[in-house]
Amino acid sequence: MAINNAYLNGIYEELAARYAEQTEFLEAVHEVLETLVPVVEADPRYEQQNIIGRMVEPERTILFRVPWVDDAGKVQVNRGYRVQFNSAIGPYKGGLRFRNNVNLSIIKFLGFEQIFKNALTTLPMGGGKGGSDFDPKGKSDAEVMRFCQSFMTELVKHIGPDTDVPAGDIGVGAREIGYMFGQYKRLTNSFTGVLTGKGLTYGGSLARTQATGFGLCYFANAYLKANGQSFEGKTVIVSGSGNVATYANQKATQLGGKVIAMSDSNGYIVDENGIDFKVIQVIKEQKRARIKTYLDYVPTAKYVEGCKGIWTVKADIAMPCATQNEIDEESAKAIVANGAIGVFEGANMPCTPEAIAVIKGAGLLYSPGKASNAGGVATSGLEMSQNSERLSWTFDEVDSKLKGIMETIYADCAAAAEKYATAGDIQAGANIAGFLKVAEAMLAQGVCY
Ligand code: NDP
Repeated sequence: MAINNAYLNGIYEELAARYAEQTEFLEAVHEVLETLVPVVEADPRYEQQNIIGRMVEPERTILFRVPWVDDAGKVQVNRGYRVQFNSAIGPYKGGLRFRNNVNLSIIKFLGFEQIFKNALTTLPMGGGKGGSDFDPKGKSDAEVMRFCQSFMTELVKHIGPDTDVPAGDIGVGAREIGYMFGQYKRLTNSFTGVLTGKGLTYGGSLARTQATGFGLCYFANAYLKANGQSFEGKTVIVSGSGNVATYANQKATQLGGKVIAMSDSNGYIVDENGIDFKVIQVIKEQKRARIKTYLDYVPTAKYVEGCKGIWTVKADIAMPCATQNEIDEESAKAIVANGAIGVFEGANMPCTPEAIAVIKGAGLLYSPGKASNAGGVATSGLEMSQNSERLSWTFDEVDSKLKGIMETIYADCAAAAEKYATAGDIQAGANIAGFLKVAEAMLAQGVCY
């Protein structure tokens, strides 16, 4: 586990001692620091100015109480978080996650990853993340609204269109963004682009809903093409059935692939004829039902209880689009044994370090989420541009910009890998390319953070 550079290893060990309980955050930091060894060795300024020691501490961490009243009239309390990690290249930008397992470690890991991801998009956005241990699943619309209003009543003090612009993530979709935007507008008496992922009737961008899933496939397609491959005729596993997974399915299918398995946190479905993303939209976006109800629409499909088994399904391409650490070493071995050619991450940090070692060790293509799922935040950046201009671009305009951005991210990661690490090591290339941009901005701005 030791990092092969005294400066970087010292930073990691200090962090591990101080935040021993923040396992997800430490995992994310270790993964990045390991790949920065050749960069730090090539340029002494990063150590002299302690750029990395500064980068691993958030500029600001906000924790707050979120009281709300449930439908029975009982007062409930949840915890709210916003971690403003790095503003060197733009206002803090990153989603809000509402799920019962949210804690400071998870928000810090996501915020840390977001710094590099946002830098890779080529747009001027710093890194941040937030959320709550409130889970909208099983709550009425009125309960979700009261929670969102209470959450925003505190968050409003810390965000703004030029300061910090949150978006959605797990558990935060169009409904939650709408309620939070309404409350922000009421409290500030201003109509600004303070949140992204907004509805189309009040400043949202066309193609934002599809952006992360589409972007993932544009990135994967560029990566496959560089290796003489494509989606054409390939079977694909897409885990999850939320925002990222649904539109990854749509685009992978449009590119000639066949998505044969999808999941939720209860279990997974297999449909060898290909899963129609429109059925998933109905189940998840309209009915907010479980994935097993897919069998009501397609009785020939199969449902298996327990989500982990999805990685034992034989397929050519794996796209984890559910949550962190969903592919462990055992699942990675199953993917490799089934003869897959690549694993492209749609979720944030869905593969454990042991799983990544198995995947890369077997010579599969592998892209980290911070590169391949950057299409969501990139399109949020495009939503911010449209809000500032007070104009709306067409679906095709946004989609074609998204495609261009994802292809550029792939090219930048490949170039950084070739220059500093091993040619084709997209994991290292993503960390290095993202780091260089933020580090240069931090050096130029002096010791302000
Ligand atoms: P959603 O809430 O829309 O969907 C999450 C999906 O994952 C649901 O189907 C959920 O099932 C499933 N899920 C959650 N936990 C597990 C688990 N342990 N095993 C299997 N399935 C699980 O979230 P998003 O699609 O927005 O986000 C998915 C991932 O993508 C996250 O890692 C997020 O951080 C990342 N991401 C999202 C972006 C976006 O634009 N939305 C941008 C970049 C990254 P259930 O219904 O049972 O909870």
